[in-house]
Amino acid sequence: MTYPFLAALLSALFAPFVGAQPPPFADVHLHYNWDQAEVTSPEEAVSYLHANNVALAVVSSTPPELALSLREAGGDQVLPFFRPYRRPGDWLTWTQDKSVPDRVREALESGRYFGIGELHLIPGFAQRWDTPVFREVMDLAKRHRMPVQIHTESSAPAFFSGICRRHPEVRFLWAHGGGILQPDVVARTMAACRNVWTELSARDPWRYVAYPITAADGALLPEWEQVVLRYADRFMTGADALWPVEQLHPWDEPDSGWQKLDQFVAFHRGWLDRLPPEVAEKIRLTNALRFFGQNREEKAETDKP
Ligand SMILES: [Zn+2]
Repeated sequence: MTYPFLAALLSALFAPFVGAQPPPFADVHLHYNWDQAEVTSPEEAVSYLHANNVALAVVSSTPPELALSLREAGGDQVLPFFRPYRRPGDWLTWTQDKSVPDRVREALESGRYFGIGELHLIPGFAQRWDTPVFREVMDLAKRHRMPVQIHTESSAPAFFSGICRRHPEVRFLWAHGGGILQPDVVARTMAACRNVWTELSARDPWRYVAYPITAADGALLPEWEQVVLRYADRFMTGADALWPVEQLHPWDEPDSGWQKLDQFVAFHRGWLDRLPPEVAEKIRLTNALRFFGQNREEKAETDKP
């Protein structure tokens, strides 16, 4: 059996570089929302991916189908995730929306999506999250062996570890390095849950400014570097290219994040370049390739008659 996805990636990786192209980069956190599609066509978005040598791009959208248009334009390197948001504000209420499980099921059965998310769990701000809807989505992820990209925003150390422990068969892609948590809490969570991979998207100088992961020289802060080196096989990163960044989930102005992709990717390449090269390569690329390659191989196994 051949895996066109992996074959395409491998040929991209080993193709001779033209000029001074930087090494391939896996971006596991991108969006192509309606307010981005207003100002950036799928073809333009894909040209930004190429310009930054993004070899794998995880894309989710509001509404979800927009992510599919990016795969149509960009090919196998684009992995659409299904996010069941249709309107601005759904990120706060999705765990109460009884239409969500059916829509997730239908999306996964279509074979066009490679994961679920980015889903938000913001306790204290959003409505109650531990609902039958949430549990059904976890069951679907398990049944279809689909990773779940989840954005938690809680200062409670045990909030996310409670979730990953309760759903040990779901592979979680934990967005934004756990958000506002301290690095030792992130380390404890990763120790407690082997089913958690952590990605550091949006941990740039423009977001989470009160919770930096890098110093003024662009290197990871020592306490973050320690965690990243310890779990070097389970970190990834991404741009989460949204602009302007001041307002979370704006709806009244177009989002020109794709035009800023260079800036975000360059920031991440900066701290990666300061790590030991073998660690940098894992986080920049190969952890994501393995994460998604493994997913497809496992899925192919279960799909066998
Ligand atoms: Zn997020």
